[in-house]
Amino acid sequence: MEKDKYENSIYKVKESRNRIGIMGGTFNPIHLGHLVTAQEALSQFRLDQVVFIPTCDPPHKVDNDIASAEDRYLMTVIATASNDDFFVSRMEIDRKGKSYTIDTVRELRSIYGKEVSLYFITGADAILEILTWKDTEEIISLCSFIAATRPGYNLARIDDLKEKLFANQQEGNGKISVMEVPALAISSTDIRQRIQKKQPIDYLVPEGISHYIMKHGLYI
Ligand code: ATP
Ligand code: MG
Repeated sequence: MEKDKYENSIYKVKESRNRIGIMGGTFNPIHLGHLVTAQEALSQFRLDQVVFIPTCDPPHKVDNDIASAEDRYLMTVIATASNDDFFVSRMEIDRKGKSYTIDTVRELRSIYGKEVSLYFITGADAILEILTWKDTEEIISLCSFIAATRPGYNLARIDDLKEKLFANQQEGNGKISVMEVPALAISSTDIRQRIQKKQPIDYLVPEGISHYIMKHGLYI
């Protein structure tokens, strides 16, 4: 089975890879903000690999605004292909239906086992959403979080969240770390709007991604 072969190629290295970063997202499309954030997490947190996990199709599709799961998956593979420490998983796409963070973290835990450290990497805005969702306590027991600060972001909201979730600051600091990334105001929303307005997207996404978008007529 093709899929198993592929997933095995990601996970077979697990013996020597004990610190795993997880980067979930719609990746509609993937951009340099995502890649710089993942690279920065690798270096600042001495991770061994980062697994990008594109979400599956949302149930209510707004025409042309969201590319298919397969297009988003392929763009993520293209954008990460040249980095030996970046991998892409189809787990949410193949699971179908709405993916909850807890399901993904549970599945990763069962694949990697108890001994590895899992770090869920998100933008500072996204962590506030994830941790107010279902099964917060179980999520926190299974993985730690790296919150990448986006330009103009106020860290007070993350401190509030830690206060709400943890009995003491020490525990909260171990589970939710803030990571400063070079100021990148890039977002997929802005890239889609630029394409609509026929403005350039060069240098905001890897070259292969702008070619893929043009070739397949995405977001127009
Ligand atoms: P959209 O504008 O469509 O919401 P997005 O740019 O936020 O897209 P997502 O796929 O929603 O991209 O994000 C995936 C993850 O990457 C989220 O955790 C998000 O917070 C984070 N992220 C997105 N852009 C950046 C950026 N420029 N710097 C740091 N983190 C980012
Ligand atoms: Mg987003």
